[in-house]
Amino acid sequence: MIKKQALERWTVQDAADMYNIQNWGAGYFDISAKGNVVVTPFPDNKNVAVDLTEVISGIKDRGYEMPVLLRIENILDSQISTLHETFREKMRELEYKGEFRGVYPIKVNQQQQVVEEITRFGEHYHHGLEAGSKAELIAALSLLKDKKACLICNGYKDEEFVDLGLYATKMGVKCFFVLEMPSELGLILKRSKVLGIKPLIGVRIKLSTQAGGHWTDSGGDRSIFGLSTTQVVEVVDTLKEQGMLDCLQLLHYHLGSQIPNIRDVRFAVLEACRVYAGLVAEGALMGYLDMGGGLAVDYDGSHTNFTNSRNYSLDEYCADIIDTVMTTLDDNQIAHPVIITESGRATVAYYSVLLFNVLDVSRFEAPELPATPEKDAPEIIANLFEVRDVLSVKNLQECYNDAIYYRDEARQMFKHGHLTLRQRSLAEKIFWHVILRIAKEVRSLKHVPHDLKHLPDALADIYYCNFSVFQSLPDAWAIDHLFPIMPLHRLDEPPVRQATLADITCDCDGKIDRFIDIHGVRNTLSLHELRPDEEYYLGVFLVGAYQETLGDLHNLLGDTNVVSIRVSEGGDFTFVRELEGDSVADVLSYVEYEPKTMLEDFRKIAEQAVRDKRITPQERGQIMKAYADGLRGYTYFER
Ligand SMILES: *Cc1c(COP(=O)(O)O)cnc(C)c1O
Repeated sequence: MIKKQALERWTVQDAADMYNIQNWGAGYFDISAKGNVVVTPFPDNKNVAVDLTEVISGIKDRGYEMPVLLRIENILDSQISTLHETFREKMRELEYKGEFRGVYPIKVNQQQQVVEEITRFGEHYHHGLEAGSKAELIAALSLLKDKKACLICNGYKDEEFVDLGLYATKMGVKCFFVLEMPSELGLILKRSKVLGIKPLIGVRIKLSTQAGGHWTDSGGDRSIFGLSTTQVVEVVDTLKEQGMLDCLQLLHYHLGSQIPNIRDVRFAVLEACRVYAGLVAEGALMGYLDMGGGLAVDYDGSHTNFTNSRNYSLDEYCADIIDTVMTTLDDNQIAHPVIITESGRATVAYYSVLLFNVLDVSRFEAPELPATPEKDAPEIIANLFEVRDVLSVKNLQECYNDAIYYRDEARQMFKHGHLTLRQRSLAEKIFWHVILRIAKEVRSLKHVPHDLKHLPDALADIYYCNFSVFQSLPDAWAIDHLFPIMPLHRLDEPPVRQATLADITCDCDGKIDRFIDIHGVRNTLSLHELRPDEEYYLGVFLVGAYQETLGDLHNLLGDTNVVSIRVSEGGDFTFVRELEGDSVADVLSYVEYEPKTMLEDFRKIAEQAVRDKRITPQERGQIMKAYADGLRGYTYFER
């Protein structure tokens, strides 16, 4: 709660602190003096700041409705160059003799626009791609033109997959087959002989190192992917027998995504280096050490080892990796390998923001009550009134218990016909009046009784928002992932309401009631009061990774509109790409409806209504137009 004095002195810096934007924003987001959220795509030049409310006006002028997924292309470019520059700088500092190659794992955001921009901009750094399936490989082959960039093939490989990879190798693509299972080797060797193309082979190992976080099972002995040490040795033996040990050039592991603790990163590198050294000792050519993904995003800005944070900077991540590789391999006089990382989340998370408007609010407010019960009111009503009258800061718990007891009693009496509908309604009203007064008192208490702790949160406002959690923020629903969420404007005013968010799916899971907080997790978000006839916009930040294709069509709310901007050094922005979201006809056809047939069927129904004289032929025209417009329209709430 904000104290009254503080309300009067509220500044945009207070807003920045409240939403912690300067800590999770990684230099890309801030608040302007006007109180609007701005994008600062060049963290070294904060003078270039694009006001998100201006972007929204531009989007609306172009005929796009909320919700909109906004991509800021400069941020994607900046994340790629920061990764490479940081590795390069640390390698120089520590006198590392090898190089760094980044690859982007397509599964993190497969959208064509995203992968295309990564390969286009990434060419400067020989940034490659990682494919985990046949479809991803086929996408990668059309986009990756840089012969110095790596194409890492993880995932299960059938003959078609292997053949495509071999053809790519022949055309000069640096395409590595990473063995996920021992059986894949036989297929690769067989096809390689048939086609006469020598493959580049890597092995994925299971590490015994376990990392904290949601995706723990990716690493460790129980991991479903990767080879055990025994299987790695078998691979070496098979390759030796075939005289193809020189094909084995890469060691790969993936500890899991979003590794919050730098200790786990370091332990994994150390273990992998031992295996790498072992393979070199076995006579394998090697040369590449691929550390998979895992570089975390500090979603709450707390810089801790909490699941949605990370307790290290990119500098520390790079330095720790390089340092560990050097100390381990130098001891064995092994040449420094090319270091590859498959950073997906950290590369794309920052550059997308989900923008939406608030449609409505419901508030729990103490209902007005008469001063005294009517003379002939039932005893239960009189009892509830008495609870109201004796309520004070000294007996909150007692009054809370009594109010619940009498409210339940009133419901029972109503069921048995001893209270009228109006009497029951009055009982509920008094109950809410009491509860809301208790909640208000609780906020100012130092020591809150256990039962009453949840009351202020439970009675927070509900802001109804124009988006679908299932479509746009699936991880918030599925794994309780936290994203930074905040108002995009009015930040020069104190946000005086406490709220949770509900989406428009009408599903009880279609809500957000966990928010980032420096000291853990909050159950409510501070928001401003809605103003009549004025839109109120919120943004969900850092949504570029994993959210787009994991989303589903719950309640047939489809893909949102997507708009990409690019900011010039001078601070102007241009709309570089637009992608119209799904229409109603689109989402219906995904579930096998045929919009053309639907129109015909509906026309027959309307024609029958004309024959039955329920509507005129003119009305039929209007109704058909409304139906056809509906099919063409956006699946979200349109103003
Ligand atoms: C998912 C995945 C990644 C990406 O991980 P991030 O944590 O997003 O960087 C990289 N490599 C493999 C093999 C993966 O499965």
